Amino acid sequence: MTRLKFQLEATASGSRARAGRFTTLHNEVLTPTFMPVGTHAAVRAQRREDVLESGAQVLLANTYHLMLRPGVEIFEKFGGIHRFMNWPRSVLTDSGGFQIFSLPGSRSVSEECAEFKSYVDQTLIRLSPESSIAAQRAIGSDIMMVLDQCVASTVDRGVAARAMELTHRWALRSLAARGDSPQALFGIVQGASYADLRAASARAITDMPFDGYAIGGLAVGEGSGAREDCTGIVTELLPPDKPRYLMGVGTTRDLLEAVHRGVDMFDCILPTALAKQGVAFTSMGRRDLRRAAYRGMDEPIDPTCSCPTCTTHSIAYLFHLNKVQEPQGWQLLGLHNVHFYMQLMRTMREHILADDWLRFYRSQRDLLDARDSYGTPVRHVTKAQRQKLKLKLGRYEVIVRDGIGHIREMTSGEVMHSVNDPALEARSLYVEQSRLVERLTDVEPLTEPGAAPLVVWDVGLGAASNAMAAIQAVEALWRPADQLPADGPRAVRQLTLVSFENDLDSLKLALRHPAWFKHLRHAAPRGLLADDRWSSAVAGVDWLLLRGDFGATKFTAPLPDVIFFDPFSFKTDRALWTLDAFRELANLLSAKAVELFTYSYSTSVRAALLAAGFYVARGRGTGPKTETTIGLTPRAAVDAEGRELAHGRELLGEEWLAKWRRSDAQAPMGTDASDASWHQAVRAHPQFQARLVYP
Ligand SMILES: [Zn+2]
Repeated sequence: MTRLKFQLEATASGSRARAGRFTTLHNEVLTPTFMPVGTHAAVRAQRREDVLESGAQVLLANTYHLMLRPGVEIFEKFGGIHRFMNWPRSVLTDSGGFQIFSLPGSRSVSEECAEFKSYVDQTLIRLSPESSIAAQRAIGSDIMMVLDQCVASTVDRGVAARAMELTHRWALRSLAARGDSPQALFGIVQGASYADLRAASARAITDMPFDGYAIGGLAVGEGSGAREDCTGIVTELLPPDKPRYLMGVGTTRDLLEAVHRGVDMFDCILPTALAKQGVAFTSMGRRDLRRAAYRGMDEPIDPTCSCPTCTTHSIAYLFHLNKVQEPQGWQLLGLHNVHFYMQLMRTMREHILADDWLRFYRSQRDLLDARDSYGTPVRHVTKAQRQKLKLKLGRYEVIVRDGIGHIREMTSGEVMHSVNDPALEARSLYVEQSRLVERLTDVEPLTEPGAAPLVVWDVGLGAASNAMAAIQAVEALWRPADQLPADGPRAVRQLTLVSFENDLDSLKLALRHPAWFKHLRHAAPRGLLADDRWSSAVAGVDWLLLRGDFGATKFTAPLPDVIFFDPFSFKTDRALWTLDAFRELANLLSAKAVELFTYSYSTSVRAALLAAGFYVARGRGTGPKTETTIGLTPRAAVDAEGRELAHGRELLGEEWLAKWRRSDAQAPMGTDASDASWHQAVRAHPQFQARLVYP
C-alpha cells in the first residue's frame, strides 16, 4: 500500500529548501508546513474555526495525554479523533515517547517497553511500540509516529548510542504493528548531538519502509547552532521522495533555518505558549507586550497581518488584556501567532516555488529574530521631525480627521474622499452601486457557474480604498460553507481586479499608517506592491497592478465589465477627464456592456461622457453630494432594438438637458471654440430622443 504519495515540486537554487505536497486520508498537504499543537485534542485557547481559518493543514495531537484522558476507549466509541473534535483535516499523533522522557515522574525502560506512572492517577502504565501504535490506530490519526527513546541532546555518547539502537529496534516493531492500516507511519532519527550517531541513525531508519522521516531529540537543550548542524547532517541522508519532519521546533527563525536545510514539516507549542506570556511573532520580529512602550500604541500588533486579531484590535488593547491577565488577551495573541506561523510557511513555499528562496532567506534571518525593533528611535532625528517625515511622501501627505486618514495631493491641495470616510464611500459608490456581490453570486440570474471572471477596473488606485472594499466584500463570500448563512448568496464567479496608478506614493504613504487607514490591515496591498499582482488564498480574487498612465495602460488590460473611475479630479489629473480621453475609452469598450461609476457629477464631465457616446445615469449621493454619475456603454444601456435595458439606472432626461443648455460649464474638458462637434453630440444623443421603440 502506498501512503501519502509525496511529490517534490521544487528545490530552491543555492539551498536545500524544498516545496512538495502529499495526500493524507483527509486532505492534501502543501509543504513546507507548520502543524499547530493540539495536545488535548484542542489548540490551547483557540477555536477550531480559527485554526481552520489560519490555513492549518495538519494538527498535532499527543498520544500520551490522550491515552490518559479521555482514554483510548472514548476514541474507539467516537470512531477516532476527527469526529471527536470535529476536525476535518489531517492529524498527526506523536508516539508518547517524548512525553514519557520529558515529563517529571518515575519511569523505566526495558527492551520490551517503557513503564511510567500516570500523572493523572499514579497507576503504572506500560507503553510498548505495539501499544503505542494500537493507541494511535484507535485515535485514528492520518500520520502515526514510532515509539522512540528520547534522551537529552546533551547526554554522553554511550547513553545516546544505546537509546538510538533501542529506537531502531522499536521502529521495526512499530512497522510490524501498523500492519495494513491505511494510516501513514514515520520513523524517527535519534543520536543526540553526535554527528556520527545521527548519520548512522539516518541510514538505519531510512532502510525501513516508512512513509516519512522525522528528526527527533532536538530542541531539548542544545544551542541553535548545534541543532542546525544536526538537521543539515540528517536531511542530507534522507531520501528526497519522502516528507521530513523536525519534531518540536521552533521559533520562526528556527523554521526558516530548517526549511533552508531541507525540512518539510514542523510542530511547536511556542505560538500559543508564548502568547500566554504576551509575546507575539511578527513580520518585524518578536514583540513583547509586557514592554511599557506598547501601552498606548494605536496600531495592529503586525500591520502586515490580516488575521482577525490584527484587523480588529490595537496593540494598546492587547497590552491591556495581558496586563490584567484577561484570558481573551492570550486567545487573541495566540490567534495572531498561529496565523503568522501559517502565513510564514505559505510565504516560504511561494519563494521556493518562484526560485527566489535565497534572497528571501537572507532578508528574513535577522528580521524574524529581532526583538521589539519597531519603534526604536532613529538617531539624529527628533521625534517631531520623524513624525513629520512619516506624514509626507512624494507629492502626497496624510491628513487625519476623526481618526480617519486621507491623502492630500500637495501641488493642487486636493484631498481624496475629502468629506466622507473613504471606506464607507468606497462601499456605497463603487461596491454596492456596481452590484459587485450580486454579479459574482448565484443571486444574479445571468451569472452562470463557471462564467469568465468578472473584470473590474479600478482607475486611480490611490490609497486602495475602493480595491480593498471590493476584495473584502468578495472574501466574505468565500468563507467556509459552515460560516456562511444558509440562505445567503453563493460565490460562483471569480473577480479580476485591475488597478491603474501612475504614482504609488499615495498607497505607500497610507501603508505607513495602518491605524488611520484601517482598510489596509490586510496582506493584499503589500503583496500587490511587491509583485504587481496578488491572489487571495481564501477567495476567487486576482488583483493586478498596471503602473503608468491609464491613457496607455488601459490597452493592455483585459476589458472590464465594471469601472470604478476614481482618480483625482481634473484639477489634479486633467488628462483623465478630457473629451478625447472619454472618446478613446468609449471606442475601446464599444463591443461590451460596461458600467462606469464616478464620484463626479459636474455638468462638463457628464457632457464629456455623453459626447463620447456613453449613456449617462444618476448615481447615488454621498455625503454632501446629492448625486454622482454612472456612465453606460450603449450595450449596457439599450438592447439591439434600441429598448432601454431593465437595469434600474435612472438616465438623465430632458430636464438635465435644459439645465445643461443654461450652464456656463457646458464644454467638456480639453475642448476649445474651434471644435463644437461635442455640442451636437450631446443634444442629439439617443438618450434624449423620443423612444422609437417601446417595450
Ligand atoms: Zn495578526
